[in-house]
Amino acid sequence: MSPTQHARLPALPVKEWEGRLFSGGWVSAARRADTLEVFTGKPLLAVGEASESDVRQAAAAAAVAQPSWAARAPEERAEVLRRAAALLAQPTPELVGWFIRESGAVQAKAEMEFGAAAGELAAAAELAQGAAAPAELHSIQPDRTATANRVPRGVVGVITPWNMPLMLALRSVAPALAVGNAVLLKPDPNTPVVGGLLLAWLFEQAGLPNGLLHVLPGGADTGTAVVEAPEVRMVSFTGSTAAGRVVARRAGELLKKVAVELGGNNAFVVLQDADVEAAAAAGAWGSFVHSGQLCIAVGRHIVHRSIAERYVAALVDKAQRLIVGDPSSSTTQVGPLINERQLMKVRDIVADTVTAGAHVAYGGKAEGLLHWPTVLTDVRPGMRAFDEEIFGPVAVVTVVDDTEEAVSLANATDYGLAAAVYGRSPEAARTVAGRLNAGMVHINDQTVVSEPQLPFGGTGCSGNGGRFGGRASVEEFTEWRLTTESTPPRRYPY
Ligand code: NAD
Repeated sequence: MSPTQHARLPALPVKEWEGRLFSGGWVSAARRADTLEVFTGKPLLAVGEASESDVRQAAAAAAVAQPSWAARAPEERAEVLRRAAALLAQPTPELVGWFIRESGAVQAKAEMEFGAAAGELAAAAELAQGAAAPAELHSIQPDRTATANRVPRGVVGVITPWNMPLMLALRSVAPALAVGNAVLLKPDPNTPVVGGLLLAWLFEQAGLPNGLLHVLPGGADTGTAVVEAPEVRMVSFTGSTAAGRVVARRAGELLKKVAVELGGNNAFVVLQDADVEAAAAAGAWGSFVHSGQLCIAVGRHIVHRSIAERYVAALVDKAQRLIVGDPSSSTTQVGPLINERQLMKVRDIVADTVTAGAHVAYGGKAEGLLHWPTVLTDVRPGMRAFDEEIFGPVAVVTVVDDTEEAVSLANATDYGLAAAVYGRSPEAARTVAGRLNAGMVHINDQTVVSEPQLPFGGTGCSGNGGRFGGRASVEEFTEWRLTTESTPPRRYPY
């Protein structure tokens, strides 16, 4: 049995993090901002915010620390990640409670995220060795040998959102560290503890050498400073398409590698021969899990007319059984939206779509930051609920007459993150799947599918073609370095 299997995190020293950020240790910040409990709005902790100068100092220190980390045996780096994975795999009730309060997740989602986050760490540990293997290449000159290595990019800036704060941060931080980079992490202002300072502390417990991970809470200005810091050679951004464009533009001007993982408006195609009850259960889960606040949530249910009535009835039945309320209660299945701005966006999209001719088959109600699971029918292209990413617990149903129309409407979006198709005939489902424009397509499942070793990412307005997961992460967080050797030394005419 490995010694890491009994590892357990100690009590959270949250009070010691007050007013601090993590950069070569826990340091006091000149600026502070409260992080709030989502459901009650009560302040949880005044967290330090990184200024531009904090970011500059962190980037310079990271650049100093990185080469010796990259020079370590891959197994040593892997061991740090394995220790962190073991610690996170058994989160204490106190830690899960913090996660629920700060992120608004219900208990089941919190537990799912800790499991997924530990999975990211364990999968990243496996990448440390893979990055080191050199490729012997053929030179057209007989007296020249050529070798190409994947080498770390150096200092990587990671900017993350609040909706899966721990897992999405680790999806970049863990593989970046595994292959020998240093990291500057800028968590979202809604979740600076569970998406930021917690990671600093976790890696401290796991024995990561000082100077390799800097956690720099703050808003867009802090994010801009991360993108612009001269030592940062790559930016891994996860968030909205609007902010991703700004980050990608600036990184492009500075000729930095940039990976952007952005929004989605994912189609769930339900074929004529589908098991209606099973399809509706999949669709309901895909739209209502974490109150719809997932980039890979089911955005649009595209359903064949012959089964649409039964499908909507089943969806409504499931929506009305869900328990909506305080995420701290272990029975709650649908918790609050992250903030007032997000709630208003969801309400506006539903209201505008109804004004445009759609109907509320169930839900539509909101109280505090809670938005009840909602089923919208008669939704067509041109209505906001069809055209936009909602990021709320709204199942948008569009009825189609045949497979051609289903494929055409599923693809009628600028996004291209995930898609899914459900039907009894595997042949028919595979044919439809092959025609859906998305980075990830799932057959006989809904769209919320993510495993740490599988390539995750989208096309179009969902991303710039990069992927996370397994070999894809090695490719993102390293670059080729070619070494040639000429024997005897090559001579030139002048
Ligand atoms: P957001 O884009 O507003 O914020 C995300 C992060 O970017 C935050 O840390 C924020 O402070 C920072 N930021 C914002 N503007 C910036 C700028 N100009 N420069 C540098 N940093 C900046 O995201 P949000 O709306 O809070 O998050 C939800 C969005 O994220 C949704 O659109 C969702 O689909 C998307 N998302 C995508 C994925 C994916 O893997 N494709 C995963 C989760 C969420």
